[in-house]
Amino acid sequence: MIKFLNSLSKEELKGKKVFLRVDFNVSIEKNNGKQSIDIFKIEAVKKTINFLINAEARIALVSHITAIDSFETIISEINNVLDCDIFFVPKEFGIESASLLDTHQIVLLDNIRFHKEEAENEASFAATLAAGFDIYVNDAFAVSHRKHASISAITKYLPSYAGQLMFSELEALNSVLNKPVLGKVLVLGGAKATTKIPVIKNFLDKAEYILVGGVLANTFLAARGISIGASLIDNKELVKSVFGNEKIILPVDVALGDQAKETRTIVKVGDTVEDTQSALDIGPETIEKFITILKNASIVIWNGPMGMFEYPNFINGTKAIADSVVKTGFSLVGGGETIAALRSINRLNDISYISTGGGAMLMFLAGDKLAGLTALGYYD
Ligand code: ADP
Ligand code: MG
Repeated sequence: MIKFLNSLSKEELKGKKVFLRVDFNVSIEKNNGKQSIDIFKIEAVKKTINFLINAEARIALVSHITAIDSFETIISEINNVLDCDIFFVPKEFGIESASLLDTHQIVLLDNIRFHKEEAENEASFAATLAAGFDIYVNDAFAVSHRKHASISAITKYLPSYAGQLMFSELEALNSVLNKPVLGKVLVLGGAKATTKIPVIKNFLDKAEYILVGGVLANTFLAARGISIGASLIDNKELVKSVFGNEKIILPVDVALGDQAKETRTIVKVGDTVEDTQSALDIGPETIEKFITILKNASIVIWNGPMGMFEYPNFINGTKAIADSVVKTGFSLVGGGETIAALRSINRLNDISYISTGGGAMLMFLAGDKLAGLTALGYYD
């Protein structure tokens, strides 16, 4: 059985050394040599950190990061966001960090993926990580589909709990999975069909409609033998496994662009597309069709932009869908680029629940078991 952190009282946590797995794998933009970090994932664990600080627990934060090698250059920004004074532990120190909590209330270990044993889910590495701690807390939902030492193997060595963010993620995702089919719409776009087809399969009996845009839609069209020129596509064979279902709504027109993304031409699906052109957004008729469905929806789950929104010529579809999604009773959104797109058009604050999980969220929505949740006893 999974145990949640908030089942522990202040008295039980006082003075305890907590190994807190978080996801600080933030995206970083570099402008004129200055780094600016996306603080969304850091803010998301504030609740858990404050809960532990209030209980006078002592905390070692552990995360990986891929955009840069080390947390060293962004520790001051992390401190600002969390309003804390976190002591940074360079990798030279090693991974046995519990003794540092005798003199510091909160520390951050450097990038855990410096150590290859992390991704190998190595047992002795996990045991060393856990040494000297009293409890383990997983608040890194977005990494919980990974069978890594600080997510999976470590739970064998410490009493293990799910944090507040994990609680919110599970509650939001379960609620959309379990709500009645009528009025529930799944919107999928973006790239990477391989991670999205399992979600479509699971939602065939859970949603009223599944609206498809982006590279995913191109892949469906290509698999049907429709002319799509130089459009990006993913695995055609995979999409064939969900062919013919009436709930899946594909574009009826698309916006084509040249390689430089400077031209924008609308064509009906089925019309000939030159080899120099690719479908980079859904077209106006498709937008109308999708919006008509979204108007009657009470719950929308959305992952993946409708087009290459990074180019002004191809943001229309994503923007129109966003404007419609925010009007539904409950909207749940996840995925790095989907969040970035919504932020760029000022619609992110109007979404009911923003998941920190991209791959993890898709896997959960597909009904697959996540290694990190298995380790916490969620499926027992
Ligand atoms: P998320 O990060 O939200 O899960 P994905 O990573 O699956 O989404 O896909 C996002 C990317 O898909 C965006 O960078 C966007 O430019 C791209 N994309 C969407 N539609 C198209 C298209 N028709 N052609 C090429 N790229 C597309
Ligand atoms: Mg992405």
